Amino acid sequence: MKPYLSWGRYPRSNAAQILPLSWASEVPDFNDLSRPVLVYGKGRSYGDVCLNDGGVLLDSSGLDRFIRFDADTGILRCEAGVTLQSILRLILPAGWFLPVTPGTQFVTVGGAIANDVHGKNHHRAGTFGRHVHRFGLLRSDRGEVLCSPEQNKGLFDATIGGLGLTGLILWAEFQLKRVPGPWIEREQIRFEKLEEFFELSAASDENHEYTVAWLDCVSLGNKRAQGIFMRGNHCSTGIHNSAVPNAGRSIRGFDAPEILINRLTMAAFNWVYFHRQWQRIARSTVGFERFFYPLDGIAAWNRLYGRRGFLQYQFVVPNENREAVREILDLLASSREVCTLSVLKVFGAVRSPGLLSFPRPGVTLAMDFPFRGRSTLDLCERFDEMVGKNGGAVYPAKDARMSSESFRAYFPRWTEFSSFLDPRFESDFWRRVVPTRRVSQ
Ligand SMILES: Cc1cc2nc3c(=O)[nH]c(=O)nc-3n(C[C@H](O)[C@H](O)[C@H](O)COP(=O)(O)OP(=O)(O)OC[C@H]3O[C@@H](n4cnc5c(N)ncnc54)[C@H](O)[C@@H]3O)c2cc1C
Repeated sequence: MKPYLSWGRYPRSNAAQILPLSWASEVPDFNDLSRPVLVYGKGRSYGDVCLNDGGVLLDSSGLDRFIRFDADTGILRCEAGVTLQSILRLILPAGWFLPVTPGTQFVTVGGAIANDVHGKNHHRAGTFGRHVHRFGLLRSDRGEVLCSPEQNKGLFDATIGGLGLTGLILWAEFQLKRVPGPWIEREQIRFEKLEEFFELSAASDENHEYTVAWLDCVSLGNKRAQGIFMRGNHCSTGIHNSAVPNAGRSIRGFDAPEILINRLTMAAFNWVYFHRQWQRIARSTVGFERFFYPLDGIAAWNRLYGRRGFLQYQFVVPNENREAVREILDLLASSREVCTLSVLKVFGAVRSPGLLSFPRPGVTLAMDFPFRGRSTLDLCERFDEMVGKNGGAVYPAKDARMSSESFRAYFPRWTEFSSFLDPRFESDFWRRVVPTRRVSQ
């Protein structure tokens, strides 16, 4: 049977029942189910927002039909289990692109709305939810409710970034973005200090639609933080302009021995990654998959962390407290944890309608760690304190361990959000951060 894990494979969680959905008409009456319910998209969330231990998981991947695509206006309506990959296959040949995309195309529209995902163009376009016009939400207490900024606005705002807790999104309609083709003009710039990263980011935002940086978190030194800043724009010319480029042949990850990931192997990997670009600035035209989804080329790469899995810690702090990024990196450098991958970006000021949406103006850093038990959790708790002290937040879509106190401090609108919860829906994440609520079993 297909495993219903999250991407980090931590924590382990066993749903009592899996209900695969192929048609909206197949969705059971939630009130007939004796256990709490949650929708599972493609399980690309790292932590436990897509898990429901002892409950029912509704697998939405069979709700994968397109409903309407207007190639003149770029408005697309589809069922919520359609993936971003399927959408790109339909829209790119017609000259359209996703308004916002995360770093993998293997996520569903429902998942993209429920976590209100962001991408490399946050400084221009905000989050995915900002481009959603309307959706149909199936509630256990009201049946199907049409939600838009004009109709049922409260429920609309709560569902965007609502962590799947306001009901089942059946379908959604959103606005695409015109592009000249599938190619991206990319510039990669080496930097050696955080200050340089901030300068590059500020100088790039106006003329570049996409910006992000890879940071070498293994060779952090006194005031040193080297990395590669990447910026890009859609362009009309490519190597084979008529073909839709792809990232190359996919290889498959396996359950690697944990010993493979250590400071030495990561230092060697990062050294090669940083120095393979010998010029300070490298320019190239690349296919969209290579630019947006470099990790998708390795299927199941999450298994390379071994059976214990891994954690991603993604936080944001306001621009005026960006020194906190340095302090968190110092804390990391003084610990024994190994950060395998780290991505840095400055979010813009475009607001999302979502009540619990994570992105806000400031600097965001995402760091991956092999899960080693207490020591990894302790380090993340120390990060939490700094993030909290600096008025920041941690991203629920990537989280498997934040405390209830931290969640309430990072997302002060959670009480307002709570009034929109579907009474039959719960998740492992929600039971952890708001432990009082229970669907009777
Ligand atoms: C390699 C990689 C890169 C990533 N990069 C980014 C990034 O750049 N930016 C970013 O924001 N995120 C990023 N993510 C995280 C990912 O985009 C989100 O976790 C996304 O929400 C996963 O979608 P999914 O379809 O797999 O949903 P799942 O992970 O299965 O579920 C996510 C949430 O959505 C809810 N949900 C799913 N479908 C429905 C539905 N139909 N109705 C109601 N609720 C529903 C679930 O209950 C759950 O709460 C990345 C993940 C990976 C693995």
